[in-house]
Amino acid sequence: MPDSYYVTTPIYYVTDAPHIGHAYTTVTADAVARWHRMAGEDVRFLTGTDEHGLKVQRSAEEHGVTPQEWAERTSRRYEEAWELLDISNDDFIRTTEPRHHTAVTKILEACRANGDIELRRYEGLYCVSCEGYYTESELVEGNCPIHHRPVEHMEEENYFFLLSRYEDRLLEWYETHPEFVRPRSRRNEALGFIRGGLQDFSISRTSITWGVPIPWDPSHVTYVWFDALTNYLTGAGYGSDDEEFAHWWPAVHLLGKDILRFHCVYWPAMLMSAGIEPPRNAYVHGFLLVGGEKMSKTTLNQIAPADLVADFGVDGFRYHFLRNQPFGPDGDFSYEGMVARYNADLANNLGNLLSRVSTVVARKCGGVGPAPDPGSELGVLTAEVFDRAANAWADVQPSAALEATWSLIGAANAMLEKAEPWKMEPGPEVDRVLGDALEVLRIVGLLAAPAIPSSAAEIWRRIGLGSDPSAAGLEAAGWGGYPGGLEVEKGKPLFPRIGGRGNRS
Ligand SMILES: [Zn+2]
Repeated sequence: MPDSYYVTTPIYYVTDAPHIGHAYTTVTADAVARWHRMAGEDVRFLTGTDEHGLKVQRSAEEHGVTPQEWAERTSRRYEEAWELLDISNDDFIRTTEPRHHTAVTKILEACRANGDIELRRYEGLYCVSCEGYYTESELVEGNCPIHHRPVEHMEEENYFFLLSRYEDRLLEWYETHPEFVRPRSRRNEALGFIRGGLQDFSISRTSITWGVPIPWDPSHVTYVWFDALTNYLTGAGYGSDDEEFAHWWPAVHLLGKDILRFHCVYWPAMLMSAGIEPPRNAYVHGFLLVGGEKMSKTTLNQIAPADLVADFGVDGFRYHFLRNQPFGPDGDFSYEGMVARYNADLANNLGNLLSRVSTVVARKCGGVGPAPDPGSELGVLTAEVFDRAANAWADVQPSAALEATWSLIGAANAMLEKAEPWKMEPGPEVDRVLGDALEVLRIVGLLAAPAIPSSAAEIWRRIGLGSDPSAAGLEAAGWGGYPGGLEVEKGKPLFPRIGGRGNRS
């Protein structure tokens, strides 16, 4: 039985519209899932939408529809965005589904049976957008530190999860699982939260009706975290299929640093309380900044993925965010930077290699691709590049994986410039040079497939390989696999250069 790999994105709140911040996490999870599938692992990739809570209830009222209708309509926008971006999720979880109600009920009962849930009176400063309480000291100039909006004074009776009981157990878990939170800087941040002392947190509301009722007290509705985080269990079969769940759990979570505390502190404690193993990993990325400001509705820096896809194509979009924004630190997005990266890496480096090779094969080899030299120096480099890429993908560092992959393309271009096969007479020397370049294209088609799946498949088609690199898998990545004797097609530029703002030249 192959290893199982269960990777998730956060579920996205349906009151937001899909923007490039959501797309960044989702494309990363998709590329990672694709890499693991190509490595022969049994992969499950989950994304979905968070559909409960006060904001959805209020938005639905404003639009004169039921919360269910509002959730249907807005959830669909995410599914459409992911279809557009070639996202290969195996499942799409919606927190309004019956299977999710079952899972939430089950985990709440388990935590309660363990004595970790208690009814208390609560008052505090509440941010409607976060659906969370803040202490006075956490506010920034009296406003929510995330939304920069005023908070409301709220008072109600809530059920609490006794997080404070888990301080030592969490620290021990971090100690024995040093790779739990990645990258390391984010692990230190999470440890800082735990060492700073843990507060019990509220898990129910009586002021909201739109949500999963607390099973033993239906006058309360489950509030955000027990509802939202539990989606990861639901998506693996928790509460509906024990065998499935045992196969997939624990999960690998991808998330942004704004929800680090909930995923890296609350969540493992909730799972421990319910007798479930904490996640295998939490990979935490920084904010995507546009002109120095985090993109969000409030800053008007919202950019829909479709707008960029219109200019750069689906693979151009995917490549940019995977390559340009290393996973972990904050990243800057600019349109000009996207044009520059596209032209340098896709149009020039990869696109040129393909068009040069196919042009010279047409002129010097009658359009039939020769086989590579088994002893080529590029073969040695390929093995190194493969190891670097594999380690980087395994650690959710697509940028480093693609940097390694592109170094191979750069080496093949340099080899061609040095050998200048276009100036040679047809013969064994031309065949050797072009065979090596074709072999690099074949291997790059494999290594780049998680990032640019359709373009990788198109590269393979043009060099005469009758299959899809994503299906061929990484076993095929060793040097010497290009058989030679295949027809090579001279096609249009795979990545046409982009001139000014959105004008393809
Ligand atoms: Zn807030």
